[in-house]
Amino acid sequence: MPLRTDYCGALRAEDVGREVSVCGWVASRREHGEHLAFVDVRDHTGIIQCVVDGAHDLRSEYVVRVTGTLRRRPGGTENPQLPTGQVELGDCTVEILNTAEPPPFPVTDRTEADETVRLRHRYVDLRRDRMQRNLRLRAKVNSALRGAMEAQGFVEIETPMLIASTPEGARDFVVPARLAPGNFYALPQSPQLFKQLLMVGGADRYFQIARCLRDEDLRADRQFEFMQLDAEMAFAEQEDVLAAISAAIADVAEAVTGTRPAEIPRMTWAEADDRFGTDKPDTRFGMDLVDVGEVLAGTEFRAFAEAGAVKGIRVAGRGDATRSELDRLTDRAKSLGAAGLVWMRVREGGTVESPVAKFLADDELAGLVGALGAAPGDLMLFVAGERRLANKVLGLLRLDLGRPPVSEGPHDFLWVVDFPLFEGVGDDGRPIPAHHPFTMPHPEDIDRLESDPLSVRSQAYDLVLNGWELGSGSVRIHRAELQQRIFSLLGIAPEDAQSRFGFLLDAFRYGAPPHAGFAFGLDRLVAILAGEDNIREVIAFPKTQSGADPLTGAPTPISEKQLAELGLKLLPPKT
Ligand code: ASP
Repeated sequence: MPLRTDYCGALRAEDVGREVSVCGWVASRREHGEHLAFVDVRDHTGIIQCVVDGAHDLRSEYVVRVTGTLRRRPGGTENPQLPTGQVELGDCTVEILNTAEPPPFPVTDRTEADETVRLRHRYVDLRRDRMQRNLRLRAKVNSALRGAMEAQGFVEIETPMLIASTPEGARDFVVPARLAPGNFYALPQSPQLFKQLLMVGGADRYFQIARCLRDEDLRADRQFEFMQLDAEMAFAEQEDVLAAISAAIADVAEAVTGTRPAEIPRMTWAEADDRFGTDKPDTRFGMDLVDVGEVLAGTEFRAFAEAGAVKGIRVAGRGDATRSELDRLTDRAKSLGAAGLVWMRVREGGTVESPVAKFLADDELAGLVGALGAAPGDLMLFVAGERRLANKVLGLLRLDLGRPPVSEGPHDFLWVVDFPLFEGVGDDGRPIPAHHPFTMPHPEDIDRLESDPLSVRSQAYDLVLNGWELGSGSVRIHRAELQQRIFSLLGIAPEDAQSRFGFLLDAFRYGAPPHAGFAFGLDRLVAILAGEDNIREVIAFPKTQSGADPLTGAPTPISEKQLAELGLKLLPPKT
């Protein structure tokens, strides 16, 4: 007989009468009289109850092989909660394949264990049903994505990990080069430059499930190393990329949820900023930002009259917010850069209670209630100031006040298109690229590149899911002259451009086709599809918030010998 004939969680009433062998870990043991014990054995598919006769020293997480005959549980002892709850293994022979120390926390889905303890013993944590489900869902997503990309003619091509820097805007992880002391490789922030080189190299449609490394502050949706579905297409425009990626996303969502999502809606960046105060709007709930400038056109209230814009949101049913809650909201608005926050409670009969009500005319107050569609019992919040700032502050308050957990509810995919080419002006007076510097400006706006750069739209687009940015892409510049123009605008001198991206500029001189691409984060997509609010739950071996790996202890010091070999000397630690 083989070591194992069946998986624990797969046994059903139809299997009754069969002699089977299962292998797994002891999930629990309940004594029943002196010589009889119910032992639940667990593998990645679930658990099976084994009725074990005779004395056995079977403890939690011991590794066992149990051979027995499958039988129906006696009437009245079935467990309808369990897929194997109708049956049990009887006449069992138990072999202990390995003993185990008591686990640092119980292997159940309801673990309360601290995350650092879970990560320190990730091999125990991963045995939990939820983690097994997440790992398998992730594998399914990868496989569906590969299938979807290949079906559309994309070819999987690997790109190197030890490279020169990629300009994604984050800090590089660097690796000292032993054979060239004083020199360093960067780990790729993305395969961006290589996939563009592949286009020049005739690859036509490239994709890769690529590891990217960025030294940025970590959060629930960010790790130092993360996986992207990375793609690039030659002789393609924005519409081609959106169609290819939308199809891949639909295939993946269908593979995982069983239903094919509707066509992904689109919103311009300008509308996203105006209605939600962000470029990654969470469209699962309303509370849109409303411009109340018209209502206040003739107001004498200076804070409103002198502002660039006045925007408001309606917080339904929160007119009962206490003064201290309102003070906290005001502090939050100020910490985000607003001069202040104006709150108004809508009373029965539509009257308004607010510290500033006395400065506003009755028809202005009524106009504000009308513009926000507010009703008695609602709270209205207003921010006055520079338009983008007012949008940003209210957009964040909207999330604080109304946002469901990211994994909850529908999967709201959204394409945000027509991003500006530049996101602002830096201290040096130069525009700051909103995407990377290889992004093609919108053809209608190219003439304004020098005269009014901030008004220039780009051919860049983002994919958003439930308010998380899943990924970005763009049509690329493929002509050296335009690239040079953008570099000059950014203040990157020709010699500088040559030393940083010379290899790409050189490649562009040898026949670069028009090309466009996209990349999205797999960890984020998998987390939301798995119903998790933190990407660490869908990564087998993630790092903690401080970038440490409690399991291996990384990062660790290296020996004097290694340092010497690399030609490195450490400064004394900062105190
Ligand atoms: N390389 C970009 C990123 O990682 C995506 C792209 O433009 O294709 O965000």
